[in-house]
Amino acid sequence: MIKSDNNLIRAVSFNARNEIADKEFFDMLSQQGIEQYDPRLVPVRQILNSLKTDKSGVRKIDQKTLTRLLGEKRLLQQTIRKQQIIPDFSGFTATLDHIFNHVKKVRGGEVANYIPQLASVAPDLYALSICTIDGQVYSLGDHTTKFSLQSTNKPINYALALEELGEETVHRHVGKEPSGVSFNALTLNARGLPHNPLINAGAIMCSSLIQRQMAAAEKFDFILDVWQKLNGIDRPTFNNSMYLSEKSSADRNFALAYFMRENGAFPPNTNVEKVLDFYFQCCAIESNTDMLARAAATFANSGVNPFTNEKVLAPETVKKCLSMMHSCGMYDYSGEFSFRIGLPAKSGVSGAIWMVIPNLMGIAIYSPGLDECGNSLRGIKVAEELVSHFNFHHYDSLKVENAQKQDPRRKKYETKVNAVMSLVFAASAGDLDEMRRLHAVGVDLNESDYDGRTALHLAAAENQTEAVKYLLKNGAHRDPVDRWGATPLDDAKRARHKDIIALLEK
Ligand code: GLN
Repeated sequence: MIKSDNNLIRAVSFNARNEIADKEFFDMLSQQGIEQYDPRLVPVRQILNSLKTDKSGVRKIDQKTLTRLLGEKRLLQQTIRKQQIIPDFSGFTATLDHIFNHVKKVRGGEVANYIPQLASVAPDLYALSICTIDGQVYSLGDHTTKFSLQSTNKPINYALALEELGEETVHRHVGKEPSGVSFNALTLNARGLPHNPLINAGAIMCSSLIQRQMAAAEKFDFILDVWQKLNGIDRPTFNNSMYLSEKSSADRNFALAYFMRENGAFPPNTNVEKVLDFYFQCCAIESNTDMLARAAATFANSGVNPFTNEKVLAPETVKKCLSMMHSCGMYDYSGEFSFRIGLPAKSGVSGAIWMVIPNLMGIAIYSPGLDECGNSLRGIKVAEELVSHFNFHHYDSLKVENAQKQDPRRKKYETKVNAVMSLVFAASAGDLDEMRRLHAVGVDLNESDYDGRTALHLAAAENQTEAVKYLLKNGAHRDPVDRWGATPLDDAKRARHKDIIALLEK
């Protein structure tokens, strides 16, 4: 039992009778990204189900029951205190809404047609889901629509091969370099091996490496189990017609497999036909963006599922897998993607992309229209928008304040307050280096604190001549008034700083 204090109870908006309806209670959790179906809420739902409903079917939670609920789950306390990795979750999701709607206007792209069953998918489907390492979720659009995983499954089979056999053995059969050619090109590296585990040849190779002793049915169940553990809630489904459709039109994949066999790339006694069959089955596993985002969140959380707390993959495996995704996950666009977006990601010809922001969240996007590289057209656009709004690029610094980009890991006013306070302090100390740095990262020199005090006020009051010069030269307004009606000149006069008065009166 966890102790809950009265402040926590007070943070909940009760009605006049000191009660809150169960729906409002769940709405409050949902605002913070915690949904009713969250398996961590099972004991909470049990307690609520034991409450009597009133005439209109509503269950009222009084303060005593709430205390009991809070004691049951640390998650509830964390949620009411907004202590998750994204504290201002509704602010964050408002930006996601904006991005989603903006990209929705993008049309075009071609649905993949080399697998007949893929060609018949509705081109306008569009979904975005995110899941943080604290299990905060948010989804938009067709997020419950299922699609076949296709190549988005490739990192998983690679991860499983690493876990089972270790890096050395796995990479005796598959390389680590981007191929520089299309995902199904008939080519191997100089050692006669597939270039990397995320193109078809490499994925066929990983399919041959994992669980070699298992019978086909057992092996497929094993994969479904892993996908279920990765997303923590749902068991993925299987699209048999997709599987049959791909299998009957897979000359290129057969050719790749035989080419690898000819080069002695497989371990001895590999049954190529069986391996290909398993590979096609994996491509025809179905997911939606909600499931895929939760699986991606497990990767963001170093292999531990945020909902079940189960360690699905070792952190070392996740690290290797993400490195591979970073350099090879986006087909022929991989270099460009890692340059512009700077996140590990994997796309598939069904139009799905999953991305990982380590220690923060997983993201899944689905839209079947593909660009000329075979990546979801809207998927790439969403990724671009995300990194333009947020400091998600791997090399966006978390240390240096970047006023152009939001950091959702921060409390609502933290970024702004930090930037303003740093500037005001630097100005009062006459620290020009720090002022230049803050200006360079985009901090507005005219920004003021809660009392309306600007950097110029402080520099004037503290007789920091160089700081005043710098501010004036770089566009700081001369006459801002603070909450007491005083301008920087008033401050300088009060303290009789002659040089500053002269500068400000000029
Ligand atoms: N099943 C597809 C194939 O092997 C997967 C390719 C992809 O998504 N890029 O061709």
